[in-house]
Amino acid sequence: MTLQYPFSEPPGKGSAIAIHDDIKWLRTPLPLSLNHINCYLLRDGDGWAVVDTGMNSEAARSQWLAVIDNELHGAPLTRVFVTHHHPDHVGLAGWLCDRFQIPLWMSESEYFHTCAFNAPRRSKPYWQVEQYFLQSGMSLESQQSLYSNDDYNHMVSEVPESYHRLTDQQRISIGGRDWLAITSRGHAPEHLSLYSPELNIYFSGDQLLPKITSNVSVSPTTPDADPLGDWLSAHERLPHLLPDNALVLPAHQLPFHGVHTRLQQVVDHHEQRMEKLLRLCESPQTAQQLTTQLFDRKLDAFQNFLAVGECLAHLHRLLALGKVQRNQQDGIHYFSS
Ligand SMILES: [Zn+2]
Repeated sequence: MTLQYPFSEPPGKGSAIAIHDDIKWLRTPLPLSLNHINCYLLRDGDGWAVVDTGMNSEAARSQWLAVIDNELHGAPLTRVFVTHHHPDHVGLAGWLCDRFQIPLWMSESEYFHTCAFNAPRRSKPYWQVEQYFLQSGMSLESQQSLYSNDDYNHMVSEVPESYHRLTDQQRISIGGRDWLAITSRGHAPEHLSLYSPELNIYFSGDQLLPKITSNVSVSPTTPDADPLGDWLSAHERLPHLLPDNALVLPAHQLPFHGVHTRLQQVVDHHEQRMEKLLRLCESPQTAQQLTTQLFDRKLDAFQNFLAVGECLAHLHRLLALGKVQRNQQDGIHYFSS
């Protein structure tokens, strides 16, 4: 089916939209070009469970307090589900769990990634992180501005010291209904999404977004990884778990129908990107050189970091398929078809 959007407008400040009697949709602000994240409230017994929380900021915290005040009529929050460790999703989990004394539910890898990234950082990057930047052909300047910009700790409130672990294919009861936990790798190591067969509603997090594609990057932490291979495998599996006409409640943009179409569009996008890279690799190129050719606009240091990581994800997939080769010269990786 073609993509259909049952709600044309997002919820406004201090309010939520009822997706269903038992589901409310709110937004919290992000200080990025993508200026919002969708968060959801799901009826859970006498109260409401939270699905994704927003980035830690004064504005996002007051948005939560206003929505709780205006929409819940005194009903309590019961627990917090977080899809993955990115700051726009997990950022206010600690604050909500602590303020309302409620438990956190996450997958294991995402919980411990949150803890690890929230630990104090070294003042100087680890040698392998420096090597990643060198190999990619990124300038010293962009590395430095990236490091001075690194503030995961500010974007994420203090991480709760305990959590409830959710695993792939686990069935959990929320508000008397069965929800299926689905975990997938590629955008994050163990991204959690939740599907209710009874409601035919899917909380997709960043696993499925209607108009933008989630970042799939080779990160300095795992410089040899093939995250696009993981991401494409997830796209092969999800159509078997989710009906095409399920209502997708994504973390960004508008709710939509058309699961299978959108999954295929994302796969097509990555295939096209790989075709384009193959053509650009006729002469040996670094990941940075290729990234610059892929974008016709100037990227800031952080956007460039994500774009180089994404370019590497495509190159590593092509390497695994035997379609490109990688040669090293003066510590720099050159890819050629
Ligand atoms: Zn994310």
